[in-house]
Amino acid sequence: MDIPKQYDPKQAELHHYERWETAGYFAPEINKDPNAPVFTIVIPPPNVTGSLHMGHALQHTIMDVMTRHKRMTGYRTLWLPGMDHAGISTQLMVNRELKKEGKNRHDLGREKFVERVWKWKADSGGQITVQMRREGASVDWSRERFTMDEDLSRAVREVFVRLYEDGMIYRGNRIVNWCPQDQTVLSDLEVDKAPQAGKLFYLQYPVKGSDRRITVATTRPETMLGDTAIAVNPNDERFRDLVGAIVELPLTNRDIPVIADEYVDMEFGTGAVKITPAHDPNDYEMGLRHKLPEVVVIDQFAKMTKDAGDRFAGLDRYKAREKVVEEFEQLGLLEKVVDYEFSISRCERCKTVIEPLISTQWFMRMDQLRDLALELMSEKHKPAFVPEVPYERIYTNWLENLRDWTISRQLWWGHQIPAWYAKNGEVIVARSEAEARAKAGTSDLTQDQDVLDTWFSSALWPFSTLGWPNITPDLKTFYPSSVLVTARDIIFLWVSRMVMMGAKFMGREPFDDVFITGTILDSQGQRMSKTKMNGVDPVEVFDKYGVDATRLTLAQVGTTDIRWNEKQVESYRNFANKIWNAARFCLLNSDGASVDPSFLVVGPQALTPARVTTQAQVGNTAGEDACGPSIHDRWIISRLNKTAVSVNQALVEYQFHEAVQTLYHFFWDDFCDWYIELTKNDVTAEEASEQRDMARSRLITVLEQALRLLHPFMPYITEELWQRLPGVGKQSLHPAYADAEPTIMLAAYPAGDTSLIDEEAEWEMQATIDLISRVRNIRSEMNIKPGERVRILVGAPDERLRNVYNSAVAQISRLVRASEISISDRLEAPRASARAVLVGGAELAVPLEGLIDFDQERQRLRREQEKLQSEATKLEAQLQNSSFVERAPAERVAEVRNRIADIAQRTSQLQQTIENLQ
Ligand SMILES: [Zn+2]
Repeated sequence: MDIPKQYDPKQAELHHYERWETAGYFAPEINKDPNAPVFTIVIPPPNVTGSLHMGHALQHTIMDVMTRHKRMTGYRTLWLPGMDHAGISTQLMVNRELKKEGKNRHDLGREKFVERVWKWKADSGGQITVQMRREGASVDWSRERFTMDEDLSRAVREVFVRLYEDGMIYRGNRIVNWCPQDQTVLSDLEVDKAPQAGKLFYLQYPVKGSDRRITVATTRPETMLGDTAIAVNPNDERFRDLVGAIVELPLTNRDIPVIADEYVDMEFGTGAVKITPAHDPNDYEMGLRHKLPEVVVIDQFAKMTKDAGDRFAGLDRYKAREKVVEEFEQLGLLEKVVDYEFSISRCERCKTVIEPLISTQWFMRMDQLRDLALELMSEKHKPAFVPEVPYERIYTNWLENLRDWTISRQLWWGHQIPAWYAKNGEVIVARSEAEARAKAGTSDLTQDQDVLDTWFSSALWPFSTLGWPNITPDLKTFYPSSVLVTARDIIFLWVSRMVMMGAKFMGREPFDDVFITGTILDSQGQRMSKTKMNGVDPVEVFDKYGVDATRLTLAQVGTTDIRWNEKQVESYRNFANKIWNAARFCLLNSDGASVDPSFLVVGPQALTPARVTTQAQVGNTAGEDACGPSIHDRWIISRLNKTAVSVNQALVEYQFHEAVQTLYHFFWDDFCDWYIELTKNDVTAEEASEQRDMARSRLITVLEQALRLLHPFMPYITEELWQRLPGVGKQSLHPAYADAEPTIMLAAYPAGDTSLIDEEAEWEMQATIDLISRVRNIRSEMNIKPGERVRILVGAPDERLRNVYNSAVAQISRLVRASEISISDRLEAPRASARAVLVGGAELAVPLEGLIDFDQERQRLRREQEKLQSEATKLEAQLQNSSFVERAPAERVAEVRNRIADIAQRTSQLQQTIENLQ
């Protein structure tokens, strides 16, 4: 058997993916069972500009684990990949390229610019699809979609037209979030709000025909040039007599009224507020209520307009602010300026301060759509969020407070709005220009210049990717999808909108479940971000530790936030090496063996192997049937089935962490540390024999099952090893894949057979393992040389336990190098013995006379005791120090306390041993 000594992950990663992909194993068509259940995931489409980051790697790992698991279980699986055209991000990317050439998009014109973006996509977009192949993501590339594909664009136009015809899309003049840098409108969700230190300016406005002044407080004095009223609360005694009065607006020659509105917060500032309907969303609403004029004083470049007055026109908004304050001061109308922290809105992408502007945009009314989504939740509990708390609440609360969605964007890259304007001002919304001409009865039309918000097309993703509006076989088979895996920050932007659109156009939810992953933070607990440069590149981690080890680390993140810890990946790299070495041992001893699942069935006659109940002699292997399964075989079969049952259960319940832990401990502890050790004698026997063949076959069959269980998490190493196993082939595949070439990814996932869970065998093996572990502890604790054989005295009042020990005597003595094992109902041991308590009330002693030098050993133990004592003294001093206890993190304090307790326990153990050595 030719198998390299060292595992090289890169080697395995290089070979298998391409073979899987070209053989069509990722496509649902590989499944030939007409009655197979269906499992579908649509990928959250990464931006075409994007490259793989940890968030993707985490989501992809979880989706791939589920997809591979379902595929091996016989489901017709589709994991559909694709990319988003990412309107603003992509346009900015190409703008930057043009800038290097000394050009901008206007030099090219719309058509050439859009051509340029497509060329950029062809040349440098979609890096992520290459990286996803490295990840091992078993997506069906034959169904890859792009939100700007012709089919998907057709779905976008269809939805737009239908919603327009239903009166749910309208064009209107409204106040919107405007980014003066990107020159586009932004939805509320594309705006970051954060507190910022600033100033609150108290401005005085003279009341006409009186010497009174009304003071208003504002953070944006420059907007006063656009004020059209002062508002007070009708219940505010201080201003009651001023309601209806006229105020002279300083720096302008305009008069404005004092109005009363319940909205005014009497506690804020002076209780009187300036109202600028054109430049503040709340003032805008109040302006509508009181039919106030809208005076636009700031333009789309954040410069003052001519309506701001000649002195201000053309000034930047911040320059204008200084000038306004200066002039108020000169007029003696600046009452005071105080420091003030307030929330400021910035463009999520370029961080420019948002300017609220009144502008003509397209909007989507959300009330009916929102009700459809709320109904799905209240009547069918769809989608089911994992975890349910807090996400279901967050989702429904948000829906309940949903406002209209601004869907137009002043960009060139995206789905151009399917609305045309005739010379007479008529608006025609249509699926195509031809349809628009037919509707208008003229070809003299101009199409709306704006494009749709990127999220408009992503909202249709679960059905537009499957062929909608055509009722395709794919749409019938794969909608709704089974689960959506995503991050919590796009529950509103994306998840809720998909639900609303799915409910509206497909009549049902787009997915059954929504799994919200945790966030991977940097080692300091900070969010990874491009600007902070604290991100960990998953590809670098793949290169260093292998894809499989990285996937295992990511799979167990689950729904909680974690700090990135490379040590964890390293430990799973070690696990991969452990798997490799264990498999290598099995393969090097596989002559005459073959994977054969019949070895995993324990027949009734094998359930009661003969037992020797008298004291057995070392080297006597009596008690084990010549070829039949011995106790450790029954035990590993039981452990294997129990593991399979609980891993399947954990995967169905989205408990990925638990699945990983269960597999890890089964493979490392049960299989490697114990089963291989226990069978070593038999499988490495020099002489070929039926017994050796059977032991080897059984070992390799257990290994094969373990590899299948691990495959969804660690696709590469499991395939690499599985392909080398003797006896695997087409018969190993799930029946749904009968025609495929042998590959572990289509092998049947072990379901686990509860009838093969043998609690008695597990109890017995556990007792033996316990005994062996205790003796090994004593050997290392007492510094007994590895070559020395020890005498073992066991006292067990329980007869059943004595029988277990007796029948395992040969194994025990081999694994602990015993010269003699004496088992009786009561322990009688010389004083100078190392002792331990065993399960089931049994006791163990290892006489030390002749094994070690007592004097020397006592001295060594005393030195250890002293060392521990001085450590404990230091730690206790730390705890006495109140500033440490107050300032150190709670975990650190708890750590110190635990360590002190450990030392105390260890010290008393040492004392006992020292006394025994007298
Ligand atoms: Zn911006």
